[in-house]
Amino acid sequence: MKPSAATELTRTLVRIDTVNPPGNERACIEVLAGVLGDAGFALHRQEFAPGRTSLVARIGKGEWPLAFTGHVDTVPLGHAPWSVDPFGAEMIDGRIYGRGASDMKAGVAAFVQACLNRLDALRAGPGALLVITAGEETGCEGAFDLLQNAPLALPSALVVGEPTANRIWLGHKGALWLRGTARGVTAHGAMPEKGRNAIGMAAGAIAHLADFRFHACRHAALGQPTLNVGTIRGGLNINSVPDHCEFTLDLRTVPGQAHADVRAAVAAHVGEHIELSPLLDVPPVWTDAAHPWIARVQQAVRETTGRDEGIAGASYFTDAAALQLAWAEVPVVILGPGEPAMAHQTDEYCLVERIDEAVAIYERLIDGT
Ligand SMILES: [Zn+2]
Repeated sequence: MKPSAATELTRTLVRIDTVNPPGNERACIEVLAGVLGDAGFALHRQEFAPGRTSLVARIGKGEWPLAFTGHVDTVPLGHAPWSVDPFGAEMIDGRIYGRGASDMKAGVAAFVQACLNRLDALRAGPGALLVITAGEETGCEGAFDLLQNAPLALPSALVVGEPTANRIWLGHKGALWLRGTARGVTAHGAMPEKGRNAIGMAAGAIAHLADFRFHACRHAALGQPTLNVGTIRGGLNINSVPDHCEFTLDLRTVPGQAHADVRAAVAAHVGEHIELSPLLDVPPVWTDAAHPWIARVQQAVRETTGRDEGIAGASYFTDAAALQLAWAEVPVVILGPGEPAMAHQTDEYCLVERIDEAVAIYERLIDGT
Protein backbone atom coordinates (compact mmCIF):
# COMPACT_ATOMS: atom_id res chain seq x y z
CA MET A 1 0.00 0.00 0.00
CA LYS A 2 1.24 3.47 -0.88
CA PRO A 3 2.07 5.56 2.22
CA SER A 4 -0.36 8.40 2.92
CA ALA A 5 0.49 12.03 2.25
CA ALA A 6 0.86 12.67 6.01
CA THR A 7 3.30 9.75 6.28
CA GLU A 8 5.37 11.08 3.40
CA LEU A 9 5.34 14.59 4.90
CA THR A 10 6.51 13.17 8.25
CA ARG A 11 9.41 11.46 6.47
CA THR A 12 10.32 14.64 4.62
CA LEU A 13 10.47 16.55 7.92
CA VAL A 14 12.45 13.84 9.73
CA ARG A 15 15.09 13.92 6.97
CA ILE A 16 15.84 17.56 7.81
CA ASP A 17 18.24 17.85 10.74
CA THR A 18 16.71 20.28 13.26
CA VAL A 19 18.59 19.11 16.34
CA ASN A 20 18.42 21.91 18.89
CA PRO A 21 20.96 23.27 19.61
CA PRO A 22 21.57 24.72 17.09
CA GLY A 23 18.05 24.16 15.66
CA ASN A 24 18.22 25.47 12.10
CA GLU A 25 14.48 25.04 11.78
CA ARG A 26 14.19 27.26 8.71
CA ALA A 27 14.52 24.44 6.15
CA CYS A 28 11.74 22.48 7.83
CA ILE A 29 9.51 25.55 8.08
CA GLU A 30 10.06 26.34 4.39
CA VAL A 31 8.78 22.89 3.38
CA LEU A 32 5.62 23.53 5.40
CA ALA A 33 5.28 27.13 4.23
CA GLY A 34 5.49 25.84 0.65
CA VAL A 35 2.55 23.46 0.94
CA LEU A 36 0.46 25.78 3.12
CA GLY A 37 1.13 28.82 0.93
CA ASP A 38 0.13 26.86 -2.19
CA ALA A 39 -3.11 25.90 -0.44
CA GLY A 40 -4.00 29.54 0.20
CA PHE A 41 -2.93 29.98 3.82
CA ALA A 42 -1.74 33.48 4.79
CA LEU A 43 1.77 33.05 6.19
CA HIS A 44 3.80 34.91 8.78
CA ARG A 45 7.39 33.81 9.32
CA GLN A 46 9.14 34.88 12.49
CA GLU A 47 12.81 34.38 13.39
CA PHE A 48 14.07 34.81 16.95
CA ALA A 49 17.64 34.25 15.66
CA PRO A 50 19.12 33.57 12.21
CA GLY A 51 17.68 30.30 10.86
CA ARG A 52 15.42 29.88 13.89
CA THR A 53 12.15 30.27 12.04
CA SER A 54 8.62 29.79 13.34
CA LEU A 55 5.51 29.98 11.16
CA VAL A 56 1.98 31.23 11.75
CA ALA A 57 -0.41 30.08 9.00
CA ARG A 58 -4.04 31.21 8.83
CA ILE A 59 -6.92 30.22 6.60
CA GLY A 60 -10.63 30.99 6.85
CA LYS A 61 -13.07 33.81 7.36
CA GLY A 62 -14.08 35.59 10.51
CA GLU A 63 -13.14 34.95 14.09
CA TRP A 64 -12.43 31.94 16.29
CA PRO A 65 -10.36 29.60 14.13
CA LEU A 66 -9.36 26.20 15.46
CA ALA A 67 -5.67 26.38 16.39
CA PHE A 68 -3.07 23.65 16.07
CA THR A 69 0.45 23.94 17.39
CA GLY A 70 3.62 21.91 17.06
CA HIS A 71 7.38 22.38 17.06
CA VAL A 72 9.88 21.34 14.42
CA ASP A 73 13.06 21.33 16.49
CA THR A 74 14.26 18.11 18.12
CA VAL A 75 16.48 17.16 21.03
CA PRO A 76 20.06 15.96 20.34
CA LEU A 77 20.78 12.36 19.40
CA GLY A 78 22.23 11.42 22.80
CA HIS A 79 25.41 9.47 23.53
CA ALA A 80 24.15 5.97 22.74
CA PRO A 81 24.69 4.89 19.13
CA TRP A 82 21.62 4.58 16.89
CA SER A 83 20.95 1.34 15.01
CA VAL A 84 19.26 3.32 12.21
CA ASP A 85 20.09 6.60 10.46
CA PRO A 86 18.49 9.25 12.73
CA PHE A 87 17.75 11.38 9.65
CA GLY A 88 16.92 8.49 7.32
CA ALA A 89 13.15 8.29 8.05
CA GLU A 90 13.33 4.58 7.21
CA MET A 91 10.02 2.73 7.20
CA ILE A 92 10.31 -0.67 8.86
CA ASP A 93 7.31 -2.79 9.95
CA GLY A 94 4.86 0.10 10.03
CA ARG A 95 7.22 2.44 11.84
CA ILE A 96 9.09 5.55 10.74
CA TYR A 97 12.46 5.82 12.46
CA GLY A 98 14.32 9.04 13.12
CA ARG A 99 15.00 11.85 15.56
CA GLY A 100 11.81 13.84 15.94
CA ALA A 101 9.55 11.19 14.37
CA SER A 102 7.38 11.01 17.49
CA ASP A 103 8.41 14.31 19.09
CA MET A 104 6.90 15.74 17.00
CA LYS A 105 7.27 15.89 13.25
CA ALA A 106 4.52 13.28 12.84
CA GLY A 107 2.17 15.56 14.77
CA VAL A 108 2.99 18.60 12.66
CA ALA A 109 2.62 16.60 9.45
CA ALA A 110 -0.73 15.19 10.63
CA PHE A 111 -2.37 18.52 11.39
CA VAL A 112 -0.97 20.16 8.25
CA GLN A 113 -2.31 17.28 6.14
CA ALA A 114 -5.69 17.31 7.93
CA CYS A 115 -6.03 20.99 6.99
CA LEU A 116 -5.02 20.30 3.38
CA ASN A 117 -7.71 17.59 3.28
CA ARG A 118 -10.39 20.01 4.51
CA LEU A 119 -9.55 23.16 2.56
CA ASP A 120 -13.08 23.90 1.33
CA ALA A 121 -14.55 23.72 4.84
CA LEU A 122 -11.70 25.81 6.24
CA ARG A 123 -12.02 28.53 3.59
CA ALA A 124 -15.78 28.84 4.13
CA GLY A 125 -15.79 28.84 7.94
CA PRO A 126 -13.75 30.24 10.82
CA GLY A 127 -10.85 28.21 9.50
CA ALA A 128 -7.62 27.21 11.14
CA LEU A 129 -4.60 28.86 12.71
CA LEU A 130 -1.39 26.85 12.65
CA VAL A 131 1.40 27.86 15.02
CA ILE A 132 4.53 25.91 14.09
CA THR A 133 7.47 26.78 16.26
CA ALA A 134 11.24 26.69 16.47
CA GLY A 135 13.12 26.31 19.73
CA GLU A 136 10.48 24.51 21.80
CA GLU A 137 12.83 21.94 23.31
CA THR A 138 15.00 24.59 24.92
CA GLY A 139 12.13 26.37 26.66
CA CYS A 140 9.45 27.50 24.16
CA GLU A 141 11.76 30.16 22.66
CA GLY A 142 9.89 30.36 19.36
CA ALA A 143 6.47 30.49 21.02
CA PHE A 144 7.50 33.26 23.41
CA ASP A 145 8.91 35.19 20.44
CA LEU A 146 5.61 34.77 18.53
CA LEU A 147 3.69 36.13 21.50
CA GLN A 148 5.64 39.36 21.17
CA ASN A 149 5.85 39.71 17.42
CA ALA A 150 3.28 37.72 15.46
CA PRO A 151 -0.43 38.06 14.69
CA LEU A 152 -2.15 35.44 16.85
CA ALA A 153 -5.91 35.60 16.30
CA LEU A 154 -7.83 34.33 19.31
CA PRO A 155 -8.82 30.72 18.55
CA SER A 156 -11.86 28.76 19.70
CA ALA A 157 -9.63 25.94 20.95
CA LEU A 158 -6.05 24.71 20.73
CA VAL A 159 -4.78 21.26 19.77
CA VAL A 160 -1.16 20.56 20.69
CA GLY A 161 0.11 17.75 18.46
CA GLU A 162 2.76 16.53 20.92
CA PRO A 163 3.11 12.75 21.28
CA THR A 164 0.21 11.13 23.16
CA ALA A 165 -0.37 8.06 20.92
CA ASN A 166 -3.63 9.83 20.02
CA ARG A 167 -4.84 9.84 23.59
CA ILE A 168 -6.39 12.99 25.03
CA TRP A 169 -4.33 14.82 27.61
CA LEU A 170 -5.94 17.86 29.17
CA GLY A 171 -2.79 19.65 30.23
CA HIS A 172 0.56 19.41 31.86
CA LYS A 173 2.66 20.68 34.72
CA GLY A 174 4.39 24.03 34.61
CA ALA A 175 8.15 24.40 34.81
CA LEU A 176 10.06 26.92 36.87
CA TRP A 177 13.81 26.66 36.42
CA LEU A 178 15.99 28.62 38.78
CA ARG A 179 19.71 29.18 39.17
CA GLY A 180 21.01 29.43 42.73
CA THR A 181 24.29 31.26 43.24
CA ALA A 182 26.43 31.28 46.36
CA ARG A 183 29.14 33.92 46.62
CA GLY A 184 31.93 33.32 49.13
CA VAL A 185 35.42 34.66 49.77
CA THR A 186 38.46 32.99 48.26
CA ALA A 187 41.60 32.09 50.23
CA HIS A 188 44.48 29.63 50.05
CA GLY A 189 43.30 26.06 50.52
CA ALA A 190 45.77 25.65 53.37
CA MET A 191 44.09 28.50 55.26
CA PRO A 192 40.35 27.88 54.79
CA GLU A 193 39.55 29.87 57.94
CA LYS A 194 40.53 33.03 55.98
CA GLY A 195 37.83 32.47 53.34
CA ARG A 196 34.17 31.66 53.01
CA ASN A 197 33.51 28.50 51.04
CA ALA A 198 30.81 28.99 48.37
CA ILE A 199 30.57 25.24 47.70
CA GLY A 200 29.84 24.69 51.37
CA MET A 201 27.15 27.37 51.30
CA ALA A 202 25.52 25.84 48.21
CA ALA A 203 25.81 22.31 49.59
CA GLY A 204 24.08 23.40 52.80
CA ALA A 205 21.24 25.03 50.87
CA ILE A 206 20.83 21.98 48.62
CA ALA A 207 20.77 19.59 51.58
CA HIS A 208 18.15 21.79 53.22
CA LEU A 209 16.02 21.65 50.02
CA ALA A 210 15.36 17.98 50.75
CA ASP A 211 12.96 19.26 53.43
CA PHE A 212 11.21 21.73 51.12
CA ARG A 213 7.45 21.20 51.01
CA PHE A 214 5.08 22.71 48.48
CA HIS A 215 1.95 24.30 49.83
CA ALA A 216 -0.14 22.80 47.08
CA CYS A 217 -2.72 20.09 46.87
CA ARG A 218 -2.14 17.02 44.80
CA HIS A 219 -3.68 17.50 41.34
CA ALA A 220 -6.08 14.68 40.42
CA ALA A 221 -4.38 13.94 37.09
CA LEU A 222 -0.94 15.55 37.36
CA GLY A 223 -0.02 14.52 40.89
CA GLN A 224 2.34 16.46 43.12
CA PRO A 225 4.60 19.36 42.27
CA THR A 226 8.27 18.34 42.27
CA LEU A 227 11.71 19.81 42.78
CA ASN A 228 15.00 18.50 41.38
CA VAL A 229 18.55 19.83 41.69
CA GLY A 230 19.89 19.32 38.17
CA THR A 231 23.44 20.70 38.14
CA ILE A 232 26.06 22.09 40.45
CA ARG A 233 29.27 23.84 39.48
CA GLY A 234 31.86 25.52 41.65
CA GLY A 235 35.51 25.87 42.52
CA LEU A 236 38.65 26.58 40.48
CA ASN A 237 41.16 24.10 41.84
CA ILE A 238 41.77 21.79 44.75
CA ASN A 239 43.88 24.18 46.79
CA SER A 240 41.72 27.31 46.85
CA VAL A 241 38.63 28.20 48.85
CA PRO A 242 35.93 28.58 46.17
CA ASP A 243 34.23 31.98 46.10
CA HIS A 244 31.56 30.99 43.57
CA CYS A 245 29.17 28.05 43.28
CA GLU A 246 25.99 27.72 41.29
CA PHE A 247 23.32 25.07 41.03
CA THR A 248 20.13 24.74 39.02
CA LEU A 249 16.68 23.78 40.23
CA ASP A 250 13.91 22.28 38.10
CA LEU A 251 10.53 22.79 39.74
CA ARG A 252 7.41 21.29 38.14
CA THR A 253 4.18 22.87 39.27
CA VAL A 254 0.51 21.99 39.13
CA PRO A 255 -2.51 24.15 38.21
CA GLY A 256 -3.36 26.56 41.01
CA GLN A 257 0.26 27.31 41.92
CA ALA A 258 1.54 30.81 41.13
CA HIS A 259 5.20 30.71 40.15
CA ALA A 260 5.94 33.97 41.96
CA ASP A 261 4.77 32.34 45.22
CA VAL A 262 6.77 29.18 44.55
CA ARG A 263 9.91 31.17 43.86
CA ALA A 264 9.43 33.22 47.04
CA ALA A 265 8.97 30.05 49.08
CA VAL A 266 12.17 28.52 47.66
CA ALA A 267 14.07 31.76 48.28
CA ALA A 268 12.93 31.83 51.90
CA HIS A 269 13.89 28.17 52.31
CA VAL A 270 17.44 28.41 50.93
CA GLY A 271 18.11 31.66 52.77
CA GLU A 272 19.36 35.03 51.66
CA HIS A 273 22.98 33.93 51.10
CA ILE A 274 21.76 32.12 47.96
CA GLU A 275 20.82 34.39 45.03
CA LEU A 276 18.02 32.95 42.89
CA SER A 277 17.53 33.92 39.25
CA PRO A 278 14.94 32.56 36.80
CA LEU A 279 16.01 30.51 33.77
CA LEU A 280 12.60 29.39 32.53
CA ASP A 281 9.07 30.14 33.63
CA VAL A 282 6.25 28.30 31.86
CA PRO A 283 3.00 27.98 33.77
CA PRO A 284 0.91 24.81 34.05
CA VAL A 285 -1.82 24.13 31.50
CA TRP A 286 -5.15 22.52 32.34
CA THR A 287 -8.59 22.42 30.75
CA ASP A 288 -11.57 21.30 32.78
CA ALA A 289 -12.85 17.95 31.52
CA ALA A 290 -16.38 19.40 31.74
CA HIS A 291 -15.64 22.01 29.05
CA PRO A 292 -18.07 21.35 26.16
CA TRP A 293 -15.30 21.26 23.56
CA ILE A 294 -13.62 18.39 25.41
CA ALA A 295 -16.72 16.27 24.82
CA ARG A 296 -16.36 17.00 21.09
CA VAL A 297 -12.72 15.89 21.15
CA GLN A 298 -13.69 12.72 22.99
CA GLN A 299 -16.32 12.07 20.35
CA ALA A 300 -13.83 12.62 17.51
CA VAL A 301 -11.41 10.14 19.09
CA ARG A 302 -14.19 7.62 19.77
CA GLU A 303 -15.47 7.81 16.18
CA THR A 304 -11.95 7.34 14.82
CA THR A 305 -10.45 4.76 17.17
CA GLY A 306 -13.37 3.26 19.04
CA ARG A 307 -11.67 4.25 22.30
CA ASP A 308 -13.24 6.11 25.20
CA GLU A 309 -10.78 8.51 26.74
CA GLY A 310 -10.38 9.24 30.41
CA ILE A 311 -8.69 12.25 31.97
CA ALA A 312 -4.93 12.34 31.87
CA GLY A 313 -2.08 14.82 31.66
CA ALA A 314 1.44 15.03 30.30
CA SER A 315 4.64 14.93 32.30
CA TYR A 316 6.41 17.23 29.82
CA PHE A 317 5.55 20.86 29.12
CA THR A 318 4.51 22.22 25.73
CA ASP A 319 4.22 25.46 23.78
CA ALA A 320 0.64 25.70 25.09
CA ALA A 321 2.16 27.04 28.31
CA ALA A 322 3.46 30.06 26.41
CA LEU A 323 0.49 30.44 24.05
CA GLN A 324 -2.03 30.44 26.90
CA LEU A 325 -0.47 33.70 28.10
CA ALA A 326 -2.11 35.28 25.03
CA TRP A 327 -5.02 32.86 24.94
CA ALA A 328 -6.32 32.61 28.49
CA GLU A 329 -9.62 30.68 28.69
CA VAL A 330 -9.01 28.92 25.35
CA PRO A 331 -9.52 25.18 25.90
CA VAL A 332 -6.45 23.06 25.15
CA VAL A 333 -5.91 19.39 24.45
CA ILE A 334 -2.63 17.63 23.85
CA LEU A 335 -3.32 14.98 21.25
CA GLY A 336 -0.82 13.74 18.72
CA PRO A 337 0.27 10.61 16.86
CA GLY A 338 3.77 10.22 18.30
CA GLU A 339 4.56 7.61 20.94
CA PRO A 340 5.11 9.41 24.24
CA ALA A 341 7.59 6.76 25.38
CA MET A 342 9.71 7.38 22.25
CA ALA A 343 10.25 11.11 22.88
CA HIS A 344 13.96 11.90 23.28
CA GLN A 345 14.91 8.18 22.96
CA THR A 346 17.63 6.47 20.92
CA ASP A 347 16.08 4.83 17.81
CA GLU A 348 13.00 7.05 18.12
CA TYR A 349 10.11 5.99 15.90
CA CYS A 350 6.44 6.66 15.34
CA LEU A 351 3.73 4.32 14.08
CA VAL A 352 2.42 4.96 10.58
CA GLU A 353 -1.11 3.88 11.53
CA ARG A 354 -1.23 6.48 14.30
CA ILE A 355 -0.33 9.26 11.86
CA ASP A 356 -3.30 8.38 9.66
CA GLU A 357 -5.49 8.03 12.75
CA ALA A 358 -4.44 11.50 13.93
CA VAL A 359 -5.27 12.99 10.53
CA ALA A 360 -8.78 11.49 10.79
CA ILE A 361 -9.26 12.82 14.36
CA TYR A 362 -8.05 16.29 13.36
CA GLU A 363 -10.37 16.29 10.31
CA ARG A 364 -13.29 15.52 12.60
CA LEU A 365 -12.30 18.39 14.89
CA ILE A 366 -12.13 20.72 11.87
CA ASP A 367 -15.55 19.51 10.71
CA GLY A 368 -16.95 20.15 14.18
CA THR A 369 -15.93 23.81 14.38
ZN1 LIG B 1 7.85 17.95 21.87
